[in-house]
Amino acid sequence: MQNLRTWTRSPLARIACLVLGSRRVAMVIGQTVHLSGTTREQFLADAEWVAHELVHVRQFKEHGFVPFLWKYLVESVRVGYYHNKYEVEAREEARRVVLANPDHVLLPLPKHAQPKEPRA
Ligand SMILES: [Zn+2]
Repeated sequence: MQNLRTWTRSPLARIACLVLGSRRVAMVIGQTVHLSGTTREQFLADAEWVAHELVHVRQFKEHGFVPFLWKYLVESVRVGYYHNKYEVEAREEARRVVLANPDHVLLPLPKHAQPKEPRA
């Protein structure tokens, strides 16, 4: 997954953190994973998380950039984030990847590698 394009400290992902009240966020826009509150290394070390975001990368490719943004938004307004069919697909696919590769079952990061609290 070394060729996966990431953007750490992405302002867009930072906004998503604030909106979602989350300490760390990964969000795919086009073919780039925007990260906030996490490093590229921490993100790539989490097989389930990477698999989830890769589904969104594929969805962008399959539907096209603007159509997918639109469909995703409509779906979110209609049924909310959790039941959004694109999120359901990403969660299920990520689960399958982890179950198929038990070696990838993730251990918590060592203390020194935990993401730091964002500074105000
Ligand atoms: Zn998702």
